[in-house]
Amino acid sequence: MQGVRIVYSSGAKFRVTWSAQTISEMSGTLGFRRAITFLKERSNRFGIKLNNTGNKISSMKITFLGTAGGRIVIMTQIRASGGFVLEMDNELIHIDPGPGALVRAKQYGVNLRKLTGVVVSHAHTDHYTDAEMVIESMAQGAMKKRGVLIGSEFAIKGGDSYRPAVSPYHLKFLDRYEILGPGNKTKIGKIEIEATPTKHGETKALGLVFRGSKTLGYAGDGEYFEGQEKHFEGCDYLVLNVLRPKNVEWPEHMNSNQAVKLIGKVRPSLAVIQHFGMKMLKAKPEREAKWIEKETGVKTIAARDGMTIDLGKGRPEGKGLEKWVK
Ligand SMILES: [Zn+2]
Repeated sequence: MQGVRIVYSSGAKFRVTWSAQTISEMSGTLGFRRAITFLKERSNRFGIKLNNTGNKISSMKITFLGTAGGRIVIMTQIRASGGFVLEMDNELIHIDPGPGALVRAKQYGVNLRKLTGVVVSHAHTDHYTDAEMVIESMAQGAMKKRGVLIGSEFAIKGGDSYRPAVSPYHLKFLDRYEILGPGNKTKIGKIEIEATPTKHGETKALGLVFRGSKTLGYAGDGEYFEGQEKHFEGCDYLVLNVLRPKNVEWPEHMNSNQAVKLIGKVRPSLAVIQHFGMKMLKAKPEREAKWIEKETGVKTIAARDGMTIDLGKGRPEGKGLEKWVK
């Protein structure tokens, strides 16, 4: 095939690379548009997606398997509580698989057998109860060692009246597991994961930053504290657990006023609020998101159960965001 370079990579999979020279050579005979269409089709066969200039699209998708926070909303399942799944740079990472994560994954079309990582931010039940089942799925029905588990000290080892979220039996099915403290870093594939501190009742609770082809910050549970923003510097996207609406306080949990402080200082391209308590649902999360957006000038949306945000096509900037949200 003229002008096309096929490289055999060590991963036993063919990798196709298209150099700028290839594209210009092919443009000479086919014309630019037809050349790109041809390369796109060819690349697709190898699972590689190209944009309209022939460059590889770095995909990033978030699926919310639940948006419940606070005991009443969790126990009544007014909102689901399965955590959220991040797909980026060929990794699929389930964050905070709370009660019902398994069922919600089926409901919202996420194949947990394709997971490469599970993250438990802290040892509160609404963040981990389905972790063992999710790990069994990741390990193909506990048939092989597969995937990575990352969590706070109390989530993995237990302590301070919390038992471990995952049994020693389940730890055996992982490639590895890691306990992180604030400032610690690790990797899942090419994604660097850094733990951030929180101010929450579970004193070892973590926030997390996922740095891959995009950077996603997740503040975890907890109230805003002075200087929290510096841990999320440079985040393209920010997911915040905002349990209470504006002017309603709950110690060690975030409300809309505190979300304004954090979002306003970090200034991501997009902020998403989730993990809603009863008072937040009564105040309407969408209305709170609009208020946060007005106060900060940062595009802010309220997550819904089953919502996906597909950011693979570029950075959403204000208007037209609807394209990426389903
Ligand atoms: Zn908590």
